Amino acid sequence: MKKYRIAIIGAGPSGYFAIQSLLNSANEEIDFQIDLIEKLPIPWGLVRWGVAPDHPKIRTVGKVFEKLANDPRVKLYGNVEVGKDVSIDDLKKQYDAVVIATGAPIGKKLGIPGENLKNSISAAEFVPWYNGHFDYTDLDIDLDFQTAVIVGAGNVAMDCGRILAITPDELQETDLAAYALEKFKNSKVKNTYIVARRSLEHAAFTSAELRDLPKLEHTNVIVDQSDVALAHREIDLEKADKELVHNLQAFTEISEKSKPNLERTLEFRFCLTPKEIHGKEKVEGITFQINRMENGKAIPTDETLTISCGLVVSAIGYETQSIPGLKLTNGKVPNENGYVEDNLYVVGWAKRGPSGVIGTNKSDANEVMHLLIEKLAQPKEMNGIENLLPGNLKIINQRNWEAINSFEIAEGEKIGRPRLKVTNWEEAVNIGLQGNQ
Ligand code: NAP
Repeated sequence: MKKYRIAIIGAGPSGYFAIQSLLNSANEEIDFQIDLIEKLPIPWGLVRWGVAPDHPKIRTVGKVFEKLANDPRVKLYGNVEVGKDVSIDDLKKQYDAVVIATGAPIGKKLGIPGENLKNSISAAEFVPWYNGHFDYTDLDIDLDFQTAVIVGAGNVAMDCGRILAITPDELQETDLAAYALEKFKNSKVKNTYIVARRSLEHAAFTSAELRDLPKLEHTNVIVDQSDVALAHREIDLEKADKELVHNLQAFTEISEKSKPNLERTLEFRFCLTPKEIHGKEKVEGITFQINRMENGKAIPTDETLTISCGLVVSAIGYETQSIPGLKLTNGKVPNENGYVEDNLYVVGWAKRGPSGVIGTNKSDANEVMHLLIEKLAQPKEMNGIENLLPGNLKIINQRNWEAINSFEIAEGEKIGRPRLKVTNWEEAVNIGLQGNQ
């Protein structure tokens, strides 16, 4: 039996799915010892910091992660930063293979004037902020105005729009960070726009998310019937992709189920490219170039539209973050089907860019892990990470994370919420280490 040591960097969905694939591939001839290295003291990546708190069903995949993490062949090293506490090169020497699974946490920039004003933020900040990510708790955001604008027509834009548009009572039932809940309780936002640069049929939302919108009880979701009619004229429903047909059906339903008596609105606008964000010290409005469509492309006209608003959130995609020793190209780790170089591999958004739902990472990681296994030589029989780490490091292992998890759930129960997230890094580490006692 050959036993290989594999290091996975990043305890998010693609990291766990890589573990799952490796464990599923173990047989009488080969087996694996897998070390899962995570910079934060809390694992789960996007499932914790990215998934919208009002969509708890999506988080149930965490149960799969926990089952994998409790396999005796898997060891979590949380609160360990690759590039600072240990180098990629050292890991490459100590493991038979190293897998980068660090996702894509950096928001792409609009590149327009005014983007740096206060209250012009990226979804890459807004989402982890409301989800209680340690690095974003200080985000200086003001909700003291009536109108907010989200730029982008993907599911992240929809999550941001929905979180702004639903009521604090609806948010109370979620595990939204306590400080964010306080902010939303005092929010004056009543009208939220989600603005796409192309027409409705080119929007990147998925139909499951669109279909949920008419169910919102306290928010009037608005899409102009003329936008829906135009899309129907453009699309041959017989030949169109199934997902697009479902999207059109969902948009049709939204346009027919307007609830004009509600004061909170979430409104889709199309064919508008952001041109400039205005304001003296903070955002006061955003001007868009009005587009016409030609063969799926947005062609700017001479006309513009300005929306007065106090917040602009750009949700236009992500890039991966550099780790010392790792080259990036176009916001990704350059790779061939997941193979980077030597014994280094990459999976998930760091490999292919920010696309697909959480489950997409399962097939993606599976393909890369099959390639990794194919390329394995004789086991190196090295010691792995233990001897590489500074002795004073407060490592969070699976038991420590389970202590944090139980603490959060118990604290949530006391106040009738599903979980009260620990949002201070040191506090999380201390609570976790109590799990050793
Ligand atoms: P996305 O689906 O790729 O959407 C990005 C949007 O940004 C597109 O509408 C794109 O328009 C627009 N855009 C890009 N550059 C722009 C610019 N300079 N100005 C204006 N608009 C611009 O990305 P995402 O929303 O970040 O989502 C990432 C992935 O996560 C997606 O696969 C998504 O489905 C998934 N996700 C899933 C869920 C869920 O299942 N509930 C939740 C969140 C995210 P063009 O099409 O014109 O380029």
